[in-house]
Amino acid sequence: MDSISLTLSVPVKDSFDLIVCGGGIAGCAAALEGARLGLKTLLLEKSCLLGGLATIGLVNYYEPLCNGRGVQVLRGLAEEFLLLSIRYGYDTLPGVWKNGRPAEKTEVRYQTEFDPYLFGMALCERLTDEGVTILFDCAAAQPVIEGGVCRGVMTDSKSGFAFYACRQLVDATGDSEMAAKAGMPTADGKNYFSYFPRTITLDSCREAAESGRINRAVRTVPGGAADLYGGGQTADMPLYYGASAENTSDYLIRNQKLVLSKFRDGDRQSRMLIMTPMMPQFRCIRRIEGDYTMTEDDAYRHFPDSVCAINDFDRRDFLFEVPRSAMTRKGFDNITAAGRCVSAEGYAWDAVRVIPAAVATGQASAHMAARAVREKKPVWDTDLAALQSGLEEKTVAVHFDDALVPPDADSVNKRVKKL
Ligand SMILES: Cc1cc2nc3c(=O)[nH]c(=O)nc-3n(C[C@H](O)[C@H](O)[C@H](O)COP(=O)(O)OP(=O)(O)OC[C@H]3O[C@@H](n4cnc5c(N)ncnc54)[C@H](O)[C@@H]3O)c2cc1C
Repeated sequence: MDSISLTLSVPVKDSFDLIVCGGGIAGCAAALEGARLGLKTLLLEKSCLLGGLATIGLVNYYEPLCNGRGVQVLRGLAEEFLLLSIRYGYDTLPGVWKNGRPAEKTEVRYQTEFDPYLFGMALCERLTDEGVTILFDCAAAQPVIEGGVCRGVMTDSKSGFAFYACRQLVDATGDSEMAAKAGMPTADGKNYFSYFPRTITLDSCREAAESGRINRAVRTVPGGAADLYGGGQTADMPLYYGASAENTSDYLIRNQKLVLSKFRDGDRQSRMLIMTPMMPQFRCIRRIEGDYTMTEDDAYRHFPDSVCAINDFDRRDFLFEVPRSAMTRKGFDNITAAGRCVSAEGYAWDAVRVIPAAVATGQASAHMAARAVREKKPVWDTDLAALQSGLEEKTVAVHFDDALVPPDADSVNKRVKKL
């Protein structure tokens, strides 16, 4: 491929303890926790609303915080953000979970739908009230690396390129863009054809008014309708990668034409397309190749360097721990991956990337960064006991409780195989 070389003179704008690249749900957790831990924190978000896929990507379903047997596993910011997601808007939170731990055993899960845009704004309110500096409409363009250490980030915005120095960087871009540009090895995902815009119709509004449930006014009109496991993927549709403009554009053009085809007929005065995903609905784009890569076989495995325990979103009982080594890589001393960027493959990537788990790894990444600053050590080599007790002080379960592991754990449920 032909290439050109550029020499740029870029203004140095400011200096931060922590720069979080990407204001999705993981990045919001990292930035908020970073500020709470006393780090001067900058959050860079290329769009105009926080929350990423969970908000502008219209994935407004907060997967469960519990094991499906009435026991809550995810706490800390994962729970704080669930409650924030419904602070201003409607919810579908089951009654048994409305007042803390259910009185009796239940298979009803601690999960909810939420209003994506109100949640995005509530995140902005919470983060700015607690001291996070946010730059919207500002892309993290290039990490500047010297000797395996990230010295800061070059940004690209309407005012041009600028440089912000940092001591620690969290990559929460959803596709490991910063880690990849820093030279860290990464692995690509493959994505089915999913695109779920929303419409209202006169009929749906009537039904919502009659039921008193505003969410019933909104209906999905899919382009590609593939689900997580590939159900609904047609043979003529390619699998998408997502980390290139050409590939993403092909996905968007096909999808938008498909959606339009569903509006060709019918009464134009009776319906309105009111929401469309402002990010491609790709589940797994690119993740780091960390010092450890989680797999489905890690279910029910304790890691000495675990930074959070997570429950499965789909299958009852299933529990994982996320080790620090899945969020870092030796040789990259001050870069931590959070959310969808964490090193996991197959079904484990799914388990670790859904909203509550992404929040948990975001929260953990801030603690890892804070310890590295305090100890002046690589982020993968700080005092583990201090890191874990710091998380536990914030109510995070670092390890899952063995009492929650079913007796037949080795064979149970291990049937879902992903791409
Ligand atoms: C079709 C679909 C259905 C799903 N269903 C559910 C569900 O029902 N429940 C659930 O819990 N999860 C679901 N998920 C998964 C979940 O939504 C995501 O995995 C999770 O929200 C990812 O959060 P994140 O913060 O890691 O990444 P993202 O949400 O991708 O956030 C990354 C953020 O970084 C920003 N960004 C990227 N690059 C840059 C840059 N260079 N500079 C500045 N900003 C940048 C982006 O704009 C974005 O805001 C679904 C996902 C898909 C695709």
